[in-house]
Amino acid sequence: MDGDEISGGWVALSGGTVAGVGPPGSEPAAARTLSARGALVTPGLVNTHHHIFQNLTRSYAPATRYELFDWLRTLFPLWAALDEEAVEVSTWVGLAELALGGCTTTADMLHIHPRPRLVDAQIRAAREVGLRFHPTRGALDLSERDGGPAPVEVTQSVEEILADSERLVRSYHDPAPGSMLRLALAPATQAGVSERLMVETARLAERLDVRLHTHLAESRGEEEYCLETFGRRPVDQFEHVGWGTARTWVAHFIFTGPEERERLGRWGTAVAHCPGSTMMLGAGAASLPALREAGVTVGLGCDGSASTDHASLWLEARTALAAARERGGPAATTARDILRAATVDAAACLGREDGLGSLRPGAPADLVVWELDEFAFAGAHTDLVEAWLRCGPVRPRHTLVQGRPLVEDGALTLPGGREMLTEHARLARRIQRLAT
Ligand SMILES: [Zn+2]
Repeated sequence: MDGDEISGGWVALSGGTVAGVGPPGSEPAAARTLSARGALVTPGLVNTHHHIFQNLTRSYAPATRYELFDWLRTLFPLWAALDEEAVEVSTWVGLAELALGGCTTTADMLHIHPRPRLVDAQIRAAREVGLRFHPTRGALDLSERDGGPAPVEVTQSVEEILADSERLVRSYHDPAPGSMLRLALAPATQAGVSERLMVETARLAERLDVRLHTHLAESRGEEEYCLETFGRRPVDQFEHVGWGTARTWVAHFIFTGPEERERLGRWGTAVAHCPGSTMMLGAGAASLPALREAGVTVGLGCDGSASTDHASLWLEARTALAAARERGGPAATTARDILRAATVDAAACLGREDGLGSLRPGAPADLVVWELDEFAFAGAHTDLVEAWLRCGPVRPRHTLVQGRPLVEDGALTLPGGREMLTEHARLARRIQRLAT
């Protein structure tokens, strides 16, 4: 059952799924065992929103004091140099970082396309690393010339975007239970795309039966843009273009009122909550207790590598706990509530109905063994789940995806990490126009 906790128990994995869980003393025979002694075992964490390529411009000094729109205007010209090599290497490094932070499934939104086939490059990296991957086909069709924030080199026409979206879904999307890769469609934001792209994308998602993703109610700038351009608030415009459905999950949803939250709950539209990123950008954070109260499913996300500058879902979970308690008081949210947002509810955001995010028998065999047997946990004896999120920082001893250890005894099992970091440094310096 969801929420069950077993002290000193075991988890058996077989053929990429959870074969069973149980109390101590009832362990089945196994071909191989990994120790979880002194550790906490949870389902693998699921990341509902990210822009991995941004790790090429992390903590970029000229942008660190800006709010979203100016931050974007500073970085877009650098991102225009993105090519297949930079995307493949940055994705490899970003996915490895996620695994080292206890994430086993991640969504991603690559929303700038200065060159073709960049999502294909991401998928190659994901297959090599072995993380479960939900890339979204991000898009911007309005450039500075049309009043959007992006330079023309990173935008595409509606026709190009729709054709490439369909090609990607037909080439890679696997809807089966236990899928390692599912595509979704993702115009980046209503403040950067045309009404026509939103409408046509929703129709295409319906036809291809894939999910929809975008940013919504992320900044005051977006609100002003929507009121000026469409004469509607962001949520009204979102409904107007046919996006208010259970097929959609949106990132952030900060600048909203109670009535708008209730509408989202009625539609079944889920939210990717990324408090670390939005607080770093000075936009605050959505209230997780208020969203849940309105019946909205909330999943956790670390958001772009250059706005939070980290990709540890554990750190994001701890930030979410602090943000929720700051908004709703200490009784409103517990570590278990946040763990739910980082696992089963995050999996629901991604449309998974195969048990992903849980350790139920039959669920995909994704789990994390968190190291609790160390200095940071000295004295924590009364509640290990609360301790897991309050003490720390904590990193995984083991991270398993599809029953396969990607991290074992704290280290990546995949070879070549050091070489990839050297490559990444070369590419990041090139993109940031620094001497190499
Ligand atoms: Zn984002």
